[in-house]
Amino acid sequence: MLVDREAAASVKKSVFLEGKDMSQKQEQEHIISGNTPALPDPLSVIVLGSGGPAAAGRASSGYLVLVDGEARFLVDAGSGIFTRLGEAQVNISRLDTVFLTHLHIDHAAELPSLFKARAMVSQEAIHFSVYGPLGKGVYPSTSQFVHLLFDAGGAFAYQKSFQTTETISVMDLPIDLTASVREIYVRDNVVVQAIATRHGDTPANAYRINYQGASIVFSGDFDPSSLPNLTQLAQGANLFICTCDVLDPPGSPAPLYALHTPPQQIGALAAAAGVRFLLLSHLSPPIARAQDQVRQSIRRAYKGEVQFATDLMYVQARL
Ligand SMILES: [Zn+2]
Repeated sequence: MLVDREAAASVKKSVFLEGKDMSQKQEQEHIISGNTPALPDPLSVIVLGSGGPAAAGRASSGYLVLVDGEARFLVDAGSGIFTRLGEAQVNISRLDTVFLTHLHIDHAAELPSLFKARAMVSQEAIHFSVYGPLGKGVYPSTSQFVHLLFDAGGAFAYQKSFQTTETISVMDLPIDLTASVREIYVRDNVVVQAIATRHGDTPANAYRINYQGASIVFSGDFDPSSLPNLTQLAQGANLFICTCDVLDPPGSPAPLYALHTPPQQIGALAAAAGVRFLLLSHLSPPIARAQDQVRQSIRRAYKGEVQFATDLMYVQARL
């Protein structure tokens, strides 16, 4: 099983039971000293946000990636993940790398909140690394986005020196669909790869994190023009976390099909890539209400395990 329900339950249980009995001060010390649960798998993820842009009870897109049980990476920083990060109560003192799939609000709005939260658990200087797509049209490049937030004259320029000294490096990634998979991060035996995708007119990237033979792929939001690239990136992945925001046509509003890929094509993608486990996320309320129908559509082509994400779900990427 790729989803270890028992481990997830024990994580939640220990987090919530301990949190309930602690005073605010103790809780703060608890977070600073770290309480990363003992995780048996080298690579795992906590879903911080399993929803889309609607305010419908789920946080927007955000995934905390744990390497050897330690929170190291954040993939997307959508609205609401700050609260979920606190609820997960993992040690974030080594969380300094963020991979943004694209710069929509439901994927990027809480980057400042993450930086603030991270600074709250460290007296030492912090160096953040942010990866995301190049700009196009009304969308800034990721480096321009970070510049507008944190550099002199930016909205939150105070943050870089508020409690500790912060520096930020940004890598803008290609948005040309013909660009091939590239390694963007190689450190401590972790290899992260990226490829360009398209989300309507929004430049986007998908990511694959590899460690000790295990791998997790994050699709981000994508329209069907991205399918060949995602098939390439997700080849043989243990865990494929895939945006599922529309029903098969004509079940969703027509304009959404220019932005998102319906379940039948997602199933074909997962089958073509040969992924072990498909976790559907970025769930809009119509999708969340139609899980049987969506699963049936996915199953036409894909015979592996498929589940629907929930906020704070803990998933291991087992071989
Ligand atoms: Zn989205």
